[in-house]
Amino acid sequence: MKAQLPLVIIGTGLAGYNLAREWRKLDGETPLLMITGDDGRSYSKPMLSIGFGKNKAADELGMASAGAMAEQLGAEIRTHTWVTRLDPEHQQVWIGDEPVPYRDLVLAWGAQTLRVPIAGDAAEAVHPINDLLDYARFREAAHGKRRVLILGAGLIGCEFANDLRLGGYEVDLVAPCEQIMPGLLPAEPARAVQAGLEALGARFHLGPVLERLDREGDALRATLSDGRTLACDLVVSAVGLRPRTELAQAAGLAANRGIAVDRLLRTSAPHVHALGDCAEVDGLNLLYVMPLMTSARALARTLAGTPTPVSYGPMPVTVKTPACPLVVSPPPAGRDGHWTVEGTAPDVRALCHDADGRLIGYALTGARVQERLALNKELPPLLAELPHVSS
Ligand SMILES: Cc1cc2nc3c(=O)[nH]c(=O)nc-3n(C[C@H](O)[C@H](O)[C@H](O)COP(=O)(O)OP(=O)(O)OC[C@H]3O[C@@H](n4cnc5c(N)ncnc54)[C@H](O)[C@@H]3O)c2cc1C
Repeated sequence: MKAQLPLVIIGTGLAGYNLAREWRKLDGETPLLMITGDDGRSYSKPMLSIGFGKNKAADELGMASAGAMAEQLGAEIRTHTWVTRLDPEHQQVWIGDEPVPYRDLVLAWGAQTLRVPIAGDAAEAVHPINDLLDYARFREAAHGKRRVLILGAGLIGCEFANDLRLGGYEVDLVAPCEQIMPGLLPAEPARAVQAGLEALGARFHLGPVLERLDREGDALRATLSDGRTLACDLVVSAVGLRPRTELAQAAGLAANRGIAVDRLLRTSAPHVHALGDCAEVDGLNLLYVMPLMTSARALARTLAGTPTPVSYGPMPVTVKTPACPLVVSPPPAGRDGHWTVEGTAPDVRALCHDADGRLIGYALTGARVQERLALNKELPPLLAELPHVSS
């Protein structure tokens, strides 16, 4: 008898493991093969930017080993294994020169950190932190050190600034923008959060970029593009993430910012789906946990034989800057809106309305974060429910 082909999931991040769990509730029979470039530990990635404040080693953030996950899910999990090519025409993927056939394939391979070119002899002292292994390496490098330079003033750079201050490090943050979280926040809530972080002791250098990083004895000298120099011991890079699309595009799959999928999370190739950070669902590429959990539940049903289109309600994001709490629900990309701002730092409420006066986004800081539940009820869904989608 011919062996049953497996469901193959590439990636064991929150998207891969949540999908596997949801799908196993519905299908206990079909073989499941998970392939991952990392060690396959199950962990919650948002914990990576609160680990220093809680003094958690990487091993303490890991929730289950690949072996334990394989047993729990009735799966084979291949760790430290990189898929190198997709071959949708022959319904297989390649790991080097080894073909792996699938019944259905799910791409849950996330996004990779952007790297900026930096001159000088200490470029290897720059640490991106996008998975548990990165976190482990950074914690080891930070042991016994005092001063951290953070590159990037986005959500993740600001969370690291808060966390590393709570962990007792001196923090300088450099970013080529006029305000923190420029793509996410209007100026007033951004100022409130920056002031909260400054009160905690973080120092901001907004405008320049890091041009050079050189060794100076045991320490590092960072030279900024405006000529200033800063002394530090190590550098965290939080300059942004790019969804992994290269292998998909090389195989002819449609991609924009992420791998393009429809509401059934189908890519343009038959039997190939995508979810999580790598996927652009009906035009939306959201690099957060809530959308991938919603996608995992819908895709599990679809893969188990009940085509289930994904729908997204409002997706507010709680930013982990306890120095000045922040909840933000940015207006959907491409929707024009008008911001109105009330209150003063630290307690700011910024609301974004469209031309018809409908609420389409908000940013709340300090004590105003309590208003989020009421505002969520007014927000439109990001992907409204569909009456029917054919499989
Ligand atoms: C520091 C930090 C804090 C965050 N905090 C929050 C938060 O508070 N709230 C929130 O909503 N979101 C937060 N996010 C975002 C959220 O964590 C991510 O959206 C989510 O974890 C992405 O999961 P994923 O499974 O899609 O990707 P990933 O977790 O990146 O997993 C990708 C997997 O694919 C594997 N892989 C990649 N390429 C290959 C290949 N070619 N072959 C085999 N395997 C491959 C990798 O090894 C990995 O196992 C945070 C992100 C970071 C970095």
